[in-house]
Amino acid sequence: MEVLGRRAELSRRLERARREGASVGLVPTMGALHAGHGALFAAARRRCDVVAASVFVNPLQFGPGEDYESYPRDLEHDLAFAEANGVDVVFAPSVEEMYPDGGLAAVRVDPGPLGRVLEGASRPGHFVGVATVLAKLFALAGACRAFFGEKDYQQLLIVRRLVEGLSFPVEVVGCPVVRETDGLALSSRNARLAPELRAAAPVLYRALRAGRDVVEAGERDPVAVERVMAETLAKEPSVEPDYGVVRAAADLEPVAPLQGELRLLVAARLGPVRLIDNLGATA
Ligand code: AMP
Repeated sequence: MEVLGRRAELSRRLERARREGASVGLVPTMGALHAGHGALFAAARRRCDVVAASVFVNPLQFGPGEDYESYPRDLEHDLAFAEANGVDVVFAPSVEEMYPDGGLAAVRVDPGPLGRVLEGASRPGHFVGVATVLAKLFALAGACRAFFGEKDYQQLLIVRRLVEGLSFPVEVVGCPVVRETDGLALSSRNARLAPELRAAAPVLYRALRAGRDVVEAGERDPVAVERVMAETLAKEPSVEPDYGVVRAAADLEPVAPLQGELRLLVAARLGPVRLIDNLGATA
């Protein structure tokens, strides 16, 4: 496995792969790698000849007072995990390498209105940070398939719009959420949950399931579905809900009465940790 730190090295390496006739898979991550990332590496391994993963905690997508400083970082673990999971190239740049203008990032990418609802409303600027770093990464990587988890469902929709809107030669591939046996979606942030909060955390998935169950039993009023989700979340007093909603799967717009492909999405704070999760449903 090769470990690269320079933007030009990544471009040259993937350019060479394509010249030799190899297809390129790209898996952007913020490190603290776990089996959720492992599923993306496996999907890329199945579909591409050369698999590149990036490991970069992107300061631009964290707001003031968020967990940029405390976000888990362990490059040694990440390199061993990536190698064991079939990654050929790890790109692990410094902040200065990705933001050479002194961290100012004077040029930014606004992914549009979808970037300002739900996660974007709770975390102003978050999706501008995500879209900006991914635009840089796609420009460096060149033609490739890029793999993203449905765990960050709104992000996945935004990445598709970014690629379409700026004509990157990238095919976006979405991969299902990987969960613990108790339903908690794997996340690098789970490691920061104290034991009693870790025990409460599966309530997010239970709320999603409860919401989906009432939709699938015939409920067509989104307010009723969201009430069921809120009631389920309220059973764990240590969990402070941010939102629990049912939206159109294609664009996260409200739908009333509920119809077609839907997505239920939750976000909640558990002590110092903010978690998100989501689940599909059909009406
Ligand atoms: P992160 O390192 O958290 O920025 O995530 C990097 C990529 O891994 C994103 O595309 C995430 O959606 C994806 N990912 C993170 N956790 C999971 C999970 N539990 N299941 C599937 N994909 C995941």
